[in-house]
Amino acid sequence: MTYYYAFHSGSNTVDFDCSRGYGVSAKSADKLSQVNIGDFVFVIQNVHQRIGYQLCGLYRIEEITDVGSNYKYPHRVALSDVSKLAEFIPLNRHALSQELPEAGKEGRWDRFMNHFARQGRSFQKPLDESVVALLMAQLKSTHEASEDIPTPEEIEFNDRVAKALKQTQSERLDRLKKAPVHPLKKQVTVWRYDRNPDVVAEVLARAGNSCESCRKTAPFKRTRDGSYYLEVHHIIPLSEKGEDSVQNAIALCPNCHRQEHFGPVRIDKNWRPDKH
Ligand SMILES: [Zn+2]
Ligand SMILES: [Zn+2]
Repeated sequence: MTYYYAFHSGSNTVDFDCSRGYGVSAKSADKLSQVNIGDFVFVIQNVHQRIGYQLCGLYRIEEITDVGSNYKYPHRVALSDVSKLAEFIPLNRHALSQELPEAGKEGRWDRFMNHFARQGRSFQKPLDESVVALLMAQLKSTHEASEDIPTPEEIEFNDRVAKALKQTQSERLDRLKKAPVHPLKKQVTVWRYDRNPDVVAEVLARAGNSCESCRKTAPFKRTRDGSYYLEVHHIIPLSEKGEDSVQNAIALCPNCHRQEHFGPVRIDKNWRPDKH
């Protein structure tokens, strides 16, 4: 899994907008030759003097297209939003400079500037693991992130499943014959929303033993303590500025919960526990 960095500099007058992708000049085109669809990129901007540097988010590279030499940035990198931040995260340049590894000649600029404040560094080379960890920690520190953000690893895995499904069965069986049946373990980076345990506890107590959507009894009891197994879901996602509150949370059975995330949504955004 490869992570890059891209800079949205102060020469831009507006905030970075993931839906428009990231433009690369003809001069820097060779940098893109190493970048693959499915790689990830952290975008950092410096557009507002008052705020300074901001982490715009983590994005997945979906496509790299050539829009023609008439444009200032003829190469466009299409992106999808992985971190789904509700707001960009202000970066503490001086604090991060203390933590970042060395990057080139020091002296004129601090480490933060050397790493993140140069347009020329965009997509220049894959980020070191320590830099990725540092930026991930910034994402993790925000309370705006959704409870259910898929990790980059999950996104990549789901892509591979979709791709395999499009192939023929014999292609899959051929590969399966050669595949190891005891997969290797690998370390993955996960970031989670820092949820309030009292919200979860209160909603579970409210629900008692049944799903607040389908009203069926929870499918099983936890062996740990004999409590009914239900999952607490945010009706308006935290990433859409939903509250981490008892009013915005509902206890669901695993089936109903999966459906809310992967199937047609059934729960009305105006659902409130006191109406039931
Ligand atoms: Zn249910
Ligand atoms: Zn949920």
